[in-house]
Amino acid sequence: MKLVTYLDPAGPRIAARRDDGYVDLNRADAALPTEMRSLLELGNDGLRRAAAAVVSGKAFPAEGVKLLAPVPRPEKIFCIGLNYADHAAESGVAAPTEPIAFSKFVNTVVGHEDPIVLPAESHEVDYEAELVIVIGKAGCHIPRDRALDHVAGYCCGHDVSARDWQLKKPGGQWLLGKTFDTFAPLGPALVTRDEVDDPGNLDICLRLNGQTMQDSNTGQLIFAVDQLVSYLSGVCTLSPGDVIFTGTPPGVGMARKPPVWLKPGDEVEVEIAGLGVLRNRCVANTD
Ligand code: MN
Repeated sequence: MKLVTYLDPAGPRIAARRDDGYVDLNRADAALPTEMRSLLELGNDGLRRAAAAVVSGKAFPAEGVKLLAPVPRPEKIFCIGLNYADHAAESGVAAPTEPIAFSKFVNTVVGHEDPIVLPAESHEVDYEAELVIVIGKAGCHIPRDRALDHVAGYCCGHDVSARDWQLKKPGGQWLLGKTFDTFAPLGPALVTRDEVDDPGNLDICLRLNGQTMQDSNTGQLIFAVDQLVSYLSGVCTLSPGDVIFTGTPPGVGMARKPPVWLKPGDEVEVEIAGLGVLRNRCVANTD
């Protein structure tokens, strides 16, 4: 299924894509919740019930539907840094021997077609296309061979990064450069795991104003999806709706000569095979 959170006049609700539009899950089956994290908490039973509702429910047209991030308010947002060897090389550092993890706060999360607000406080905002894992079943100390059982599905993600704040501040860590408002577009849909044959073999690309800037495959990940879920679950109990940004391939703006920084009016598209296109336009902060 392709699950979305959309903005209804009554507020955010969840739906699933069908050929003829979207089916609102709760309106098709009142036993289903109206919110994505609550659906994921129901586990496989909830997803089976949702799949039945998609078949039996009445669809509404997709045109004009305002999508939000599939999980608009994840409890935890993990990000993995330098997880493609050739991106580590273009960043001037050795490929890591253990995952490098950092995080963003929930203020960063926006959906498909939402604006990316370029902050006045940064002059070096960069793009990063990423495969994002969405956790389904809660767990801690998850062994690698059971890690995928805890994955609800995947979506496209954009790890927008203010390089001046990420790399030129004295703290030596990345939080502030990664967590400006709107710096984590997610979407357009959460594609459930049964529709993704192999998360380790997905073409991933990023287009800036129509020009391809990143073009790779998740087969290039240093630490694979199951490894990351297992590794992080050794530290934090993973909860339904938690998201894990898995790192970006080479081609980012800071590695180009001259560097390419995002500017107002730029349109950025992240496309991952089978997961769709996540499109966002950059705007200047007018506060
Ligand atoms: Mn990243």
